[in-house]
Amino acid sequence: MSRVVRPRIRTLAGYTPGEQPAADSRLVKLNTNENPYPASPAVARAVEESITRLHLYPEPLSDGLRRGAAERYGVRPEAVFVGNGSDEILALCFKACAGPGDRVAYAVPTYSLYRTLADLAECHVVEAAARDGEVPTAIVDADARITFLCTPNSPLGYEIPLDQVRRVAAASRGLVVVDEAYVDFGGTTALPLLEELDNLLVLRTLSKSYSLAGARIGLAFARPELIAELCKVKDSYNVSRLAQAAGTAALADSGWMEANVTRVRLTRERVRDELIRLGFAVPPSAANFLWVECGPSGGEAVYRSLRERGVLVRFFDTPGLRSGVRVTVGSDEDMDRFLQAITTARP
Ligand code: PMP
Repeated sequence: MSRVVRPRIRTLAGYTPGEQPAADSRLVKLNTNENPYPASPAVARAVEESITRLHLYPEPLSDGLRRGAAERYGVRPEAVFVGNGSDEILALCFKACAGPGDRVAYAVPTYSLYRTLADLAECHVVEAAARDGEVPTAIVDADARITFLCTPNSPLGYEIPLDQVRRVAAASRGLVVVDEAYVDFGGTTALPLLEELDNLLVLRTLSKSYSLAGARIGLAFARPELIAELCKVKDSYNVSRLAQAAGTAALADSGWMEANVTRVRLTRERVRDELIRLGFAVPPSAANFLWVECGPSGGEAVYRSLRERGVLVRFFDTPGLRSGVRVTVGSDEDMDRFLQAITTARP
C-alpha cells in the first residue's frame, strides 16, 4: 500500500532511534544517553495528583511549566516554549522556518535527526566536517534558513565556545538553533546571548539531566516574537497533563538534578581515565557519554561483542563514525560491567 504515500516520503529511510530493549531485559543500557538515576521524588507526587484531572485537556501552552522554566532560567515566560520532547521543537523549527529548497546547515558528525527533518522538509543540506568546537567556515557562510549547533556535540562530546555561537548567529540571516540537550553535564549555555542576538533559539530537554526521557519534555528559549510564531505551528495540546506536571516538579527541584549530574560527571571521568589506560582514544566529553575510538577493526565489532556480553552501546553506521562507539555514562555499577566487558571484547 506504500503507493498511497508521497514518492518523496517513500524514498526516505526515516530516523533510526537507539534500541529500546524490553523492560525485563538484562542488558546494561548505555545506548541512548538516558540518566541512570531516577527523577526527583517530587515528580511522582505531582504526576499522581494530575491523574485526578486527566479527563480535562492540559494547558495549551503548558503555562505552569513555562512559568517554572522562566523562573529557573531567569527569562520571561513569553520567551519559553514547551514541546513534546526537544525533538518536537526541532520539527516545529522546520515547520516555521524552512521549506522545500531552503538551505539548512550543520557540522557533522552531529545529531542525525537534523538530517532526517531536513529531508522530510525537502531542504537542501549543507554539511561540513568538524571534530571540535570550531564551526567550519562553510557552515558559517552557508546563508542557511536554519543552522544547527549541537553543544555539547553528540556523539563526540566537544563543546562549542560562545564566541563561535556568536560568530554563526551574527553571520546568519536565518534561525540559529543551539541544541543544549547535554549542557547540564558540562557545557556553557548560550542563554545569555539571547539578549544580543534575535535569531537564536536555545534548545533544552528534561530527558537527560532531569531524568525524564519517558515524559517527553523539551524547552526552547528565544525572543518572544519567535516563540509566538512557534506556538502557531504546534498542536493545540502538544504536551500531556502528566508530562507538564512531571516537568514542573522536576524543575522546581533542580538540586536533585544537580546531584545526579555530579555523580554522572565523576563516573564519566573515572571511566574515561580507565579506557585511556586500556589503550583507547577517548576525547574529552562535556556530556553524559563518551566517544570511544576502537581502532582499525572499527566500532561495529566492539558493539557486537559488548552486546554478546550483555552491554548495549551505540554504533552509528555512518561515514566518520564507523571507527568507534558512543557509550552513555551509567551508574558506577553499570560502568564497571561495561569496563569488564570491553576489556575482554577488544578485538
Ligand atoms: N538533541 C540531541 C543532541 C539529542 O541527543 C537528543 C536525544 N536523542 C535530543 C535533542 C532530543 O531529546 P528529547 O526529544 O528527548 O528532548
